[in-house]
Amino acid sequence: MTINSFEIDELHAVEILDSRGRPTLAITATLGDGTSARAGVPSGASTGTAEAVELRDGDQARYAGAGVLTAVGNVNGPLQAAVAGHRFTSPTDVDDVLRATDGTGNKARLGANAIIGISMAVHRACAAARGVQLWQALTPTGVTPRLPVPHFNVVNGGAHAPNSLDFQEFMIAPLGAPSFPEAVRAGAEIYAALRKRLMAAGFATGLGDEGGFAPDITSPEEVLTLLVASILDAGYSPGRDGVAIAMDPAASEFHHDGTYRVAGQSLSGTDMIDRYEQIITDFPVWSIEDGVAEDDQDGWIALTARLGERVQLVGDDNFVTNPAIIADAIAHHVGNAALIKVNQIGTVSETQQAMQICRQAGYAAMVSHRSGETDDTFIADLAVGSGCGQIKTGAPARGERVAKYNRLLAIADAQPDMAFGIGGTTRG
Ligand code: PGA
Ligand code: ZN
Repeated sequence: MTINSFEIDELHAVEILDSRGRPTLAITATLGDGTSARAGVPSGASTGTAEAVELRDGDQARYAGAGVLTAVGNVNGPLQAAVAGHRFTSPTDVDDVLRATDGTGNKARLGANAIIGISMAVHRACAAARGVQLWQALTPTGVTPRLPVPHFNVVNGGAHAPNSLDFQEFMIAPLGAPSFPEAVRAGAEIYAALRKRLMAAGFATGLGDEGGFAPDITSPEEVLTLLVASILDAGYSPGRDGVAIAMDPAASEFHHDGTYRVAGQSLSGTDMIDRYEQIITDFPVWSIEDGVAEDDQDGWIALTARLGERVQLVGDDNFVTNPAIIADAIAHHVGNAALIKVNQIGTVSETQQAMQICRQAGYAAMVSHRSGETDDTFIADLAVGSGCGQIKTGAPARGERVAKYNRLLAIADAQPDMAFGIGGTTRG
């Protein structure tokens, strides 16, 4: 069943807490036929400078300035006024009106956190009104939906943990798993094996913001050694045919005055790339995100030229899910994959445009959560509908992280014939 047009009856936003205990928005969209849907807005900590602007109140008397009552007021006030009572033919048309109402290039006036929440809620409500699953509504014409390989972030450092580990994320990626449920099982079993190893070695097993362990280890190679051992402990084989590793060093965070500071050493851009070359030779690392800093364009071009045939190189802080920036990066041979975060650009339809540009250019795309999350599972459906084959949404632990994996398990259960895996996005 399809609908030719729909009317928005009401938008309602409320200030809620995210997984770090900071304020964010929950937004409910109600359509003219009475269908209503809710969305929770994610929030990052290691953000790219060109991201769409997350509006915070700055009122130091509330939440140390991090309140979002202004953004809530913008949803309930001007943004609702711009769309309520109007008829639309697609959620994309609503996104266009929201963007025009804000009027800035980076959604700074009314807030990307306000706008993305409306966009997600409207997409969800429209799918429900049509009687289809959200992932179906998010599948573009000509694209085959696919269950993505989960990238479980099992060791947290950088801006996501109070330890001395400079690299932000170490993920296990069961590329060779026969199905999505088996990939989840591998992730959870390896996570448990890693906890045992950390405890045996006397490390604290407290968790970082994305649910991974945050042991006080400084050397990235030591973490990688522990991961390989844990993969073996759990009975899996390390490598692309079994369980591979992905890293997000988030290098913008440790790049200062032209120097990369890693585990007490000061490295030039070339040293940093040499280090990665050694890492991918010694360990089954298949994907590196933000290996160099967002403002180190020469470093990005050199990294891509040297390692782009061997591993996936994902742009996050530098690409910020921005279609125009990604198109420019493709033209300059920067990276070979894009991280996709809905709140970096601020509407679902622009996010889909960014993924469309990747598909056309043969760039891979990995759908991603933020370090601050809610129980919202929109990105699980986005990953499936886009057919991108990859998702990272934290450890196989903590409610806001497993909500996404559990949504994917439900989709896998309902769609036993759906394809699983990275498909055509393999590198090297
Ligand atoms: P963030 O980190 O959500 O804190 O920005 C995630 C990432 O860098 O990929
Ligand atoms: Zn990142």
